Amino acid sequence: MENFLGNFDNLTINSNNIRPSEIKANITKSQKNRPQLHHLGYYFRLSFSNEVNGKRHWRCLANRCTASGYSFCDNIGETCEFYIVNDSHIDQPDLAKFELLERRRLIKERASNDKARKIVRLMEKPYDENVRILLPSYNADRQVIQRAQKACKPQYPKEPDSLSAIEIPDELMGHL
Ligand SMILES: [Zn+2]
Repeated sequence: MENFLGNFDNLTINSNNIRPSEIKANITKSQKNRPQLHHLGYYFRLSFSNEVNGKRHWRCLANRCTASGYSFCDNIGETCEFYIVNDSHIDQPDLAKFELLERRRLIKERASNDKARKIVRLMEKPYDENVRILLPSYNADRQVIQRAQKACKPQYPKEPDSLSAIEIPDELMGHL
């Protein structure tokens, strides 16, 4: 593997003639709703975009890691070619994280249409057992959904027309 990577480095040393990686990258969404590029278990944040040639430059998220590359796309949800400029990572790849980020992104996307329980029920279960054990609890998922729903709805509730229109949560009914 190291030999292979060594050869690959020699091929790609001239940054103007880099060929894209044979494996495509995915643009997912960070917890702060920023585009995040995933490639072979490594995660990159956008460092700058060149509006003239369309290059999006990405830098590894890991602290002090100088691995980097570029793409011509930063649209969340898309798959694209990734051109590796520097692949000397100091961090370890983590494939499970991508599935969890994508799952979270899809949950948020569906938040405006459905109730939490339905959204979570309809989410596909990850195939990989290593990812399944990392899945957040239902309550954690529900919090993500509710936060997303709050963010796209007006903050103030509608004034009730009459006393009977006021909804009292079931758990409080016992105290009345
Ligand atoms: Zn790295």
